[in-house]
Amino acid sequence: MTTTPLNSIDLYCALMMGEIVPWYQPMIDTQTQTLYGLEVLMRWSLDAENVSPVALIGAFEENGLLPEMTQHLLRQVAADMNDLDTLLPAGLHLSFNVSPSQVAKPGFVFDTLSFLAALPLEKYRLVVEITEEQPLRNTPEVVGAFLKLQLAGVEVYLDDFGTGCSNLEYLEQFSVDGVKVDQRFVKHICTKKSSTSIVAMVAGLAKAQHLGIIAEGVETVRQSQLLSDLGIVIQQGHLFSCAMSQSQLRNYLSPE
Ligand code: C2E
Ligand code: CA
Ligand code: CA
Repeated sequence: MTTTPLNSIDLYCALMMGEIVPWYQPMIDTQTQTLYGLEVLMRWSLDAENVSPVALIGAFEENGLLPEMTQHLLRQVAADMNDLDTLLPAGLHLSFNVSPSQVAKPGFVFDTLSFLAALPLEKYRLVVEITEEQPLRNTPEVVGAFLKLQLAGVEVYLDDFGTGCSNLEYLEQFSVDGVKVDQRFVKHICTKKSSTSIVAMVAGLAKAQHLGIIAEGVETVRQSQLLSDLGIVIQQGHLFSCAMSQSQLRNYLSPE
């Protein structure tokens, strides 16, 4: 992982030179073993395997360039999806990550809806994953942003639910469509009673509230089986596939 500090000029240049690219990680419906969705994960193409996305996101955020980075990424996602259109199943869950600081910004809803308009509407379920590293402020702007997106058919999921700032209270404060179970819980689900209980509790909560639920970081068949037994059938993780570039995704969808 890179340890070089990134300044706003490096970041701006990376955006302008098209070096920030979307990679895609499949989500699998384990009941049918078919592709359920894709999560967009940003990479720096110059060094995709080595630059930590978490550090990069932090640097974009600190330099006030996160909305530009997301827009840049989504323009490429729209082009990639249109390019792969015939290989993708109808109703694909297509999610991208948004940090809480972005949600309250005036352009957020407009930018997301512009992205939606660049895709064939009937083909995708667009999902915004709200990341957990900062608190989500319970303000009219944030509440209103979620409602506007939902009215337009975009779903809102809480990422890494139960970790960092992503807490139970959010389910009362905001209109959300689903939650993602973080890999920290999935990692120990077969070995730590507390992890099993937390995941079971979140699965029960999602069921009671009619929320979607997706588990990430699934690495073993045992983890996958236990998650399915707990009712979490949509799963994402290295057991199924790592994140991949557009050309790798093409091969994944249409192996020769
Ligand atoms: P996340 O949204 O929780 O994404 C899941 C992370 O877990 C990804 O790391 C993915 O590559 C990794 N992962 C997936 N399956 C497995 C597995 O089975 N085992 C293990 N050990 N790891 C797995 P990645 O790509 O490094 O992204 C890290 C975080 O950076 C993301 O966590 C997300 O919070 C943030 N991020 C990535 N792209 C964006 C973006 O475009 N915008 C924003 N705001 N945040 C982003
Ligand atoms: Ca995510
Ligand atoms: Ca996570």
